[in-house]
Amino acid sequence: MQHILDKALRQGRSVTGLGEVASYIPELSKADKNHVGVCVMDSVGGCFEAGDAEERFTIQSISKVVSLAVALELYGMEAVFGQIGMEPSGDAFNSIVKLAGDASRPYNPMVNSGAIAVASFIAPELTFDEMLERTREMCGDPDIVLNEAVYHSEMATTSRNRAISYLLESKGVLRCGVDEALELYIKMCSLNVTARSLAYLGLLLANGGIRLQDGKQLLQPETVRVVKSIMHTCGMYDGSGEFAVRVGVPTKSGVGGGLLSVVNKRMGIGIFGPSLDKKGNSIAGEKILQFLSAQMKLHVFD
Ligand code: GLU
Repeated sequence: MQHILDKALRQGRSVTGLGEVASYIPELSKADKNHVGVCVMDSVGGCFEAGDAEERFTIQSISKVVSLAVALELYGMEAVFGQIGMEPSGDAFNSIVKLAGDASRPYNPMVNSGAIAVASFIAPELTFDEMLERTREMCGDPDIVLNEAVYHSEMATTSRNRAISYLLESKGVLRCGVDEALELYIKMCSLNVTARSLAYLGLLLANGGIRLQDGKQLLQPETVRVVKSIMHTCGMYDGSGEFAVRVGVPTKSGVGGGLLSVVNKRMGIGIFGPSLDKKGNSIAGEKILQFLSAQMKLHVFD
């Protein structure tokens, strides 16, 4: 495994020059686009790392997976999907087009509109500190903290998400005020994780919500099934379809350069690589996953 991972890392590193780091959140533009790290945790207790797997970066959209899981645990599937759709949008993650038109609800919980709606479900029930605790537990990482610089940088430049939030409010989708929903959403995006914390979360999901280390059921099986299905169909922005065909591993990306992947019953994979392709996905991360999927037959339909 270590040998395969080292090889995958080299492949990933070879393409970092083809992308760019995110800059629409000013603080994210400070990332070094040549950094790449990968961590694999498997269902028999193995943990393998290569490259910058312990470097901290903000989780960004991958927090949508954590928040969706928590909302499902709090309210159940019917209530959550009564307000938010389950369909891939085919639009960019921050698109406003369909919502400004006649869509009565967000397309899915992995685009910004859906995730802001999910945050509005959670905010009346749990504080940010409680969400932080849950994230630490699901990622097996007590060192996750709020990256204040990224949080303030996004808050100062988040007009588009604010516009989305007001549209959601106008359509009766929000369960709390715009400011409350937006604050929780952006704080969750600004949590500092590592490739290793994402691999741990991936393994938790691969293992049906049961923590491998002590057998504790942290998430209900139905929650985990729903989350993995949504990751598979909607996790890679408007590149989700092609990724599902070519790689076939349920994955969620974030503009901080993270990728969270779940190989059902077998392993969790976490990747960090802040150089992004045009759709906002880690360019090294996609290359690494393509390689690992082919080498180890990880495609969901292999
Ligand atoms: N906080 C980012 C935003 O709302 C998350 C985007 C992403 O990672 O896709 O724009």
